[in-house]
Amino acid sequence: MQGEKIWLSPPHQGGSELKYIQDAFDTNWISQDGSNLDAFEKTIEDYLGYDSFVTALSSGTAAIHLALRLLDVKEGDFVLCQSFTFVASVNPVLYQNAIPVFIDSEATTWNMCPNALEDAIKYCLQQGKKPKAIIAVSLYGMPFMVDEITEIAKRYEIPIIEDSAEALGSKYKGKPCGTFGDLSIISFNGNKIITTSGGGILISRNQQHTDKALYLATQAKENRDYYSHSEVGYNYRMSNISAGIGRGQMEVLEDRIVKRRENHNFYNEIFKNYDEINLFTEPNDDFYSNYWLNTITIEQNSDGITKENLKKIFTKNNIETRYLWKPMHLQALFGKYNFFGNNLCGILFEKGLCLPSGTNLIEKDRNRIKDILINLRY
Ligand SMILES: *Cc1c(COP(=O)(O)O)cnc(C)c1O
Repeated sequence: MQGEKIWLSPPHQGGSELKYIQDAFDTNWISQDGSNLDAFEKTIEDYLGYDSFVTALSSGTAAIHLALRLLDVKEGDFVLCQSFTFVASVNPVLYQNAIPVFIDSEATTWNMCPNALEDAIKYCLQQGKKPKAIIAVSLYGMPFMVDEITEIAKRYEIPIIEDSAEALGSKYKGKPCGTFGDLSIISFNGNKIITTSGGGILISRNQQHTDKALYLATQAKENRDYYSHSEVGYNYRMSNISAGIGRGQMEVLEDRIVKRRENHNFYNEIFKNYDEINLFTEPNDDFYSNYWLNTITIEQNSDGITKENLKKIFTKNNIETRYLWKPMHLQALFGKYNFFGNNLCGILFEKGLCLPSGTNLIEKDRNRIKDILINLRY
């Protein structure tokens, strides 16, 4: 072991989080209500623009679950899901006893393939059931092919749930991620670009959806003098303490995006010298990634370098790396569900590795990483 541990994507304090937490204590709003929540939601609404209505929740997973509820996804309904993602994108489909139908990735953004999506829609229609939703992910911060996916969704009149858990700060054609879905979600888990220590938001395009989301997130309690319930609800509201952390973090978001993109440039300088290792990069000017994680794919003829031995070398040097997300259609949990595509995402999983991408990487850390990577050649 040499040097302190370098993490893949650790939390990075901004400086004023404690002030907002102190506010909550001073005013005794140590609850799921209070001014931090209001201010945090407002800050994100202003940041995203485009008539975004935000509900702060306990997690990104909760936000996806509520999105499914708002779209009335029920037992036996089809939901079209990007296979290449973290399991949290799809678990809520099972909470609703609905049926995920998995869609492959395309090679450009690694996200939902429009052709496979359309094949899957046709399959569902042949079964006599129109899919209730499309869950499209902007994985590793790279926006999905928004125009192509949206065109298909509109043509078949299927709403999009945009999973931008990893993509706060990313843009497509200048428009921010979090504004592309009928409903969108962002996560503030500890490993994301900014964090509330655990939390997420649901973004909707109208006040009615947001009111309904808040109602479902607070046990679906009807507005009466007594406790009155006619449908199932959840305890999904974010705490006012977490929202205080979020307020502090939002103040440094722009800086964090700049830093993540600097990390990407750092890796780009190294990997431009390698034919057999590719750094995953924006395909063209339409795509602006927050580069939440920098990822590489290692081709087969790479002088014996594999994701496994590269990971081992990093681990030996006390540096955390991770394999890419293992696609959902290859998970035992989802083994019985349909998959559309040519398994491109399975191949990416075989070849890929995520590299340290935190915003608190300092020069010394980068040098340790660089030493390992430039010595691979020989
Ligand atoms: C982190 C993440 C989620 C879930 O967010 P939580 O806040 O951890 O529940 C969902 N989808 C993707 C792609 C994620 O990376």
